[in-house]
Amino acid sequence: MKCKEVNSKLIFYLEKELLKDEMLQVENHLSKCSSCSDRLILLQSAMGVIEKEKSLQANPYFLSKTLNRLREEQRRAAQPFIGLLKPALLGVLFLLAIGSGIFMGANFASDTETRQQSNLIDPYFNEIDNETIELFFLNDGYHE
Ligand SMILES: [Zn+2]
Repeated sequence: MKCKEVNSKLIFYLEKELLKDEMLQVENHLSKCSSCSDRLILLQSAMGVIEKEKSLQANPYFLSKTLNRLREEQRRAAQPFIGLLKPALLGVLFLLAIGSGIFMGANFASDTETRQQSNLIDPYFNEIDNETIELFFLNDGYHE
């Protein structure tokens, strides 16, 4: 067997995919030819690297695990911000509601006629305010 022929069969020799006869011929050549046996060692180490990479890629949980961990870290990083933001928004909304309530109350208080009307209108306005706050949080506050 010639070097060229052996080289073309080295990979199959390593994978033990040659016929018994061919295996013996290659083995025989390798025992006498240092350049071919050197090539075999190189090929073997290269195959080892490939096998390692294959086994890493073949693990289907590795990628999803890593992605899950990343997502969890992002969630954890985002939560304190949302946690601070929501009470702040609530505070602003309550201040606005209280402010507009005082403004309306002051306006209506100056006129006894409209004050009576305000008693009728106030529950209606309060309902609108509550609905607006709820809608605001439904649309924006809890949107992620
Ligand atoms: Zn050779």
